[in-house]
Amino acid sequence: MNSRVLALNSIAPTSGDCVLYVMSRDQRVHDNHALLYAQAFAIEHKIPLVVVFNLFPRLGVRAREHFSFMLEGLKEVANELDTFNIPFVLSFGDMLAQIIELSTKLQPGLIVADFNPLRGVREVQKSLAKSLEVAVHVVDTHNIVPAWIISDKQEFAAHTMRRKLHKQLGSWLKEPETLKKHPFSYSSKLEAPDWQQAEALINSLDACGIQHGFTPGEKAAKNHASKFINDSLAHYSEQRNDPTSESQSSLSPYLHFGQISALRIVLDCMRATGHEPLLLHEPRMPRAAGNNPLHDGVDAFIEELVVRKELSDNFCLYSTSYDSLDGAPAWAQKTLTEHQDDPREHLYTQQQFESAATHDDVWNAAQYQLLKTGKIHGYMRMYWAKKILEWSQSADEAIKTAVYLNDHYSIDGGDPNGYVGILWSIAGLHDRPWFNRSVYGTVRYMSSSGLEKKFDTAVYIARWS
Ligand SMILES: Cc1cc2nc3c(=O)[nH]c(=O)nc-3n(C[C@H](O)[C@H](O)[C@H](O)COP(=O)(O)OP(=O)(O)OC[C@H]3O[C@@H](n4cnc5c(N)ncnc54)[C@H](O)[C@@H]3O)c2cc1C
Repeated sequence: MNSRVLALNSIAPTSGDCVLYVMSRDQRVHDNHALLYAQAFAIEHKIPLVVVFNLFPRLGVRAREHFSFMLEGLKEVANELDTFNIPFVLSFGDMLAQIIELSTKLQPGLIVADFNPLRGVREVQKSLAKSLEVAVHVVDTHNIVPAWIISDKQEFAAHTMRRKLHKQLGSWLKEPETLKKHPFSYSSKLEAPDWQQAEALINSLDACGIQHGFTPGEKAAKNHASKFINDSLAHYSEQRNDPTSESQSSLSPYLHFGQISALRIVLDCMRATGHEPLLLHEPRMPRAAGNNPLHDGVDAFIEELVVRKELSDNFCLYSTSYDSLDGAPAWAQKTLTEHQDDPREHLYTQQQFESAATHDDVWNAAQYQLLKTGKIHGYMRMYWAKKILEWSQSADEAIKTAVYLNDHYSIDGGDPNGYVGILWSIAGLHDRPWFNRSVYGTVRYMSSSGLEKKFDTAVYIARWS
């Protein structure tokens, strides 16, 4: 079997009445290995292919704006699939019950799902594989190297992941096949997606008030990536850590909702610059700039888009405690517990953090950036989370606050990158012990004076406060 594919049960796929692809994390038509795999099987067995997406807004965490962004992207998916003679079903409510019901109706010979390392989706996929007498296969089309291939265990740090990626990435950087117009039509009537019901459901959720400014959908994602490659990649290496510049790609919302694949972005970067990433040649990523800013840009960007991003999926795949202190390394849990009762100079409640009511102007500016745009600059995200630790009663409480704020407001929230970013900042994940100090113990510290050495904090504060 194709090693992007993992069988969740031992049932052999058969030529049932169709192949059913349960789209979840990878909400796109092109460069989607799960859809391509489903289509290849359907064509081989001369049967139709149906795609289903189940909409079940989890109350309380993600906000209306996030679901609206997703829904607009899904409308484009449905229209585009139609041009490939592939029907799109939109179901509502409990995902397991809905997919079981649909499967009973459609009688697929194979169910394909895309891979997500987070608990909720994986549990549903496993239950599906147990409940149905149908083969259920999961395809990793989010990572360039499938998460279970790159490593069979939780990686220790970025350098161990980088070494593994260095060995394997080359053989996975392949242009995906193109989707074909599906030659076998689904003849029985399938209900057309009820977008009105979907909108009503989403409109019943709380809005968080962000104005993210991103145009949703696969086409917009491709345009956004091209613009970044053409206009900003050459400045990325030098300026990405400056929160007053616009040098980051801002691709995370599109990547989070799977409206573009990391593979496509890397292939386009390589094509546009003619540069083979150093990661393919050099196990230790040189951080010093060379004399070609565009090539340095590709290397620095791939460090984030490939090494850091795939490390996040690795952690969430192998640690079920990815959003709590239990997921932190033992040394960090110990040091944070030892410093639990250290006096805090400032203590804030979740509500005070949420309303940007701390004494620290630069922290408040980051929180305002989040409240206004649904995204804090990547460099400030670290400072933002570390100060939540410093000004909370405990590390446990700090993680809860950071996870809530990040998932509720960030357009790219609810993502392995977010859980790992929070544990990295607050609880030493993928890091090493530093100097011992109050509250943090040996978890790496960041100060506002340190920020001032890196960029003009006054400009950042004036911009967002
Ligand atoms: C406390 C905290 C919370 C975070 N929350 C999220 C989140 O909710 N969603 C999210 O996608 N990222 C999160 N990150 C990681 C990172 O900050 C964002 O991915 C990045 O800022 C997104 O902006 P960009 O697309 O312009 O990044 P770019 O610098 O242009 O990077 C390109 C892509 O690489 C990946 N990437 C970049 N930095 C990281 C990183 N440190 N770890 C993993 N992948 C990375 C992302 O997919 C990103 O879109 C968080 C980091 C921290 C410290």
